[in-house]
Amino acid sequence: MSCSQESLVQKHPCYNEDAHHHYARIHVAVAPACNIQCNYCNRKYDCSNESRPGVTSERLTPKEAIKKVLHVGANIPQLSVVGIAGPGDALANPKATFETFKYLNKYAPDLTLCLSTNGLALIDHIEAIKACNVHHVTVTINSVDQSGEIGSKIYPWIYTKGKRYRGKEAAKILLKRQLEGIKACVEAGILVKANSVLIPGINEEHLPEVSKKLKQMGVFLHNIMPLISKPEYGTVFGLNGVPSTPNSMLTRVQKACGIETKLMKHCRQCRADAVGLLGQDRSQEFLKSKQEDLSLDELAKAYDLPSRKAKQEKIEAWRRALAKANERIESEKLSLQKSLRIAVTSVGNGLINQHFGNAKEFLIYEVSNEKVEFLHHRKVEQHLCTGADACGTNPIEEIAKTLDDVDYIATAKIGPCPKEALAKHNILINEEFAYQPIVASLKEIAKKHAQSKLVQKAG
Ligand code: SF4
Ligand code: SF4
Repeated sequence: MSCSQESLVQKHPCYNEDAHHHYARIHVAVAPACNIQCNYCNRKYDCSNESRPGVTSERLTPKEAIKKVLHVGANIPQLSVVGIAGPGDALANPKATFETFKYLNKYAPDLTLCLSTNGLALIDHIEAIKACNVHHVTVTINSVDQSGEIGSKIYPWIYTKGKRYRGKEAAKILLKRQLEGIKACVEAGILVKANSVLIPGINEEHLPEVSKKLKQMGVFLHNIMPLISKPEYGTVFGLNGVPSTPNSMLTRVQKACGIETKLMKHCRQCRADAVGLLGQDRSQEFLKSKQEDLSLDELAKAYDLPSRKAKQEKIEAWRRALAKANERIESEKLSLQKSLRIAVTSVGNGLINQHFGNAKEFLIYEVSNEKVEFLHHRKVEQHLCTGADACGTNPIEEIAKTLDDVDYIATAKIGPCPKEALAKHNILINEEFAYQPIVASLKEIAKKHAQSKLVQKAG
C-alpha cells in the first residue's frame, strides 16, 4: 500500500479492518432510483429491524441529508465517513448525489466521501466524482463472464441511454461499462472497492476469476458478500428458492479469492440509511424528524470541527497503544494441534467488551500457530436479553447453530444458563479477558488451550 493510500484508509471503517473497531459511518439515502434490476434486491421492503442493502426507513433530499450528517457528526465524533449507497444506485440519481457531496465539502470537510454503484453509469461521472473529492468508490460486480451467461441469471434488465436491455445483451453491456468505469477510477487515483454477492449455484465457482481480474485492474479491495435470501424479502431469488449463502461456502470462496487479492471480510451489508460503528445501527436515533426543527446554521455550529479533531486524535493514540499491546504477544509461538475458531463479542474499541446476552453479532477469528486472523462476522436474528416482550422465546439454540463450528466464545460476561446450553454444543466460554484487547487475548486463550491439551495428553 502506498503512503497516500494508507492515509486515505487510516480512518475508513470499511477499507481498513482495524479502523472498523473505532470509526463510524453514515449512509444518506438520497438515491431512490436504480438503472438495473438485480434478482437479489427488493427496495420496496422497509422495516426498522431489517439490516440489509436497499432497506431504508426514509428518503432524504440533499439538504435533509447534510442536516442529518451534521447532527450525527456532532453526536458521534467517531464519524469519519459518509457514503451514498441507495436505496437505489448513487449514479442513477446524479443530481441528488453530487448536490449532497457539494454540501458535505462545504459543511463537513473532515469527512471522507464514498459512493456505491452498480457501475453502469460510472464512466459517465468520473469528472464529477473527482470534482467532489470522492476518493472511495465501491462497484458491485458479480461476474466477469464475457458471454453474459452468468450475468443474465443475476440481472433481468438494465436501462441505459434511454433504452432497456434484457438477457445476455444486458449483462454484456453492464460488464463492459463496469470495467470501463473501474479502469477510469483507478487511473484517476480513486480507491476502488469491488463488492461481489456470492450467489449459491450461480457464481460460486466463478468468483475467484472475478477476484483475479479485479486485482489485475488495480482494485484496492474485494468484498465477497453472502447472499441474504428469504421468500418474505420478496426478491426474485428469495421467491424462487435460491438459498442464502451458507457460512461454510463463504469461507471457502473467500479463501479461494484471497490467494491473490486483498479481501474485505468485515462488511455488514448495511442498510441505505445506516448510522454508527459497523456492528451498530443507530439509524432510528437520527431520523429526519430529529433535526427538522434545527436550522442548517445551528447544526453547522454544533458540528464542532476542533472538538471532533481532538476526539479523533485520542482514538488514534488509543489505536497505537492497542497495536503495541497486540504486537507484544503476536510474535509468541503457539503449539496448537489444529487451529481454533473463536467468536468474540465486542461493541468496538478493539476490545472484548460486550455481554453475551446483548450480542446480535459475533466476530469470528481463527487462531493458528502462525497468526490470529479475522474471518468474518455472523449475525443472529435475536440476542439473548431482549426484555420482557421476548419472554418464552429463547434464541440460544439459534445462536448455537450459528456458531456450530466455533471452539470458544470470548465474551465480557455470560450467565450460567446459556453457558451450560452452549457446553452441550461443545462451545467453550472464556470470560477471562473481559475489556482486554481482542488479538492478544485470543492468542492467550489459544496458548492456554494448547497447554491444557498437552496436560490431558500427559495425563
Ligand atoms: S443495483 Fe443495487 S439498488 Fe439497483 S437493483 Fe441492484 S441491488 Fe438493488
Ligand atoms: S455495506 Fe459494507 S462497505 Fe458499506 S458501509 Fe457497510 S460495512 Fe462498509
